[in-house]
Amino acid sequence: MEPQIIDYYNEMPSGVHIINKLNDEFAELQKNYDELKKELEKYKKPTKIFKSNEDWNNTKNKVYEMIREIINKCIVENEIEYRSMRHFGICPIQIMDIGYTLQDGLELLTDNKEWSVNESYYITCGIKSFIQGFIESGKWHDLYDSVDAQKLADIIYNNIKYQLDDESHWPCILEDIALFKCVKCNKIDNYVNDDNLCEVCEKI
Ligand SMILES: [Zn+2]
Repeated sequence: MEPQIIDYYNEMPSGVHIINKLNDEFAELQKNYDELKKELEKYKKPTKIFKSNEDWNNTKNKVYEMIREIINKCIVENEIEYRSMRHFGICPIQIMDIGYTLQDGLELLTDNKEWSVNESYYITCGIKSFIQGFIESGKWHDLYDSVDAQKLADIIYNNIKYQLDDESHWPCILEDIALFKCVKCNKIDNYVNDDNLCEVCEKI
């Protein structure tokens, strides 16, 4: 930048002031960008590399088993909570127990605590709103009285499994989480066959 008359009166040339100002503005923009990026990461679905389809399916089944167990525990095996469901729908303590188990299970599948905490909250909201719909329409007692505790537990378990992935539809929550490494070309992909070969290598 050419020296200007003002530079003879200033200790520093005016170009320096402009550059300092630009640097400040840039630092501010960078800070905003970093904050937005961090915020966005929270909502982005995590991925995790599994050894094989078998490894992924085993881990998924283990998580389904954990969910099945906690639902049975707080509905079938807990008579007080089961009885209070007739009046309240799903109770806050049941939501809490199921929510914590979902958090642990999702973390097992993703290694991402923050996403697992958020997602388990949305899943339990899904159960609450499903039951609330029956209560609002005056049909909750009809449903409650027409099934036993085990059947009620099954309904809630199936609701959660449907949200996660019951292999009957998409999109679902667990879709696109599992990644695999092709044993031949080392490519990381969301598909490998049972011999751990990617789409390209399995055709060779
Ligand atoms: Zn390959």
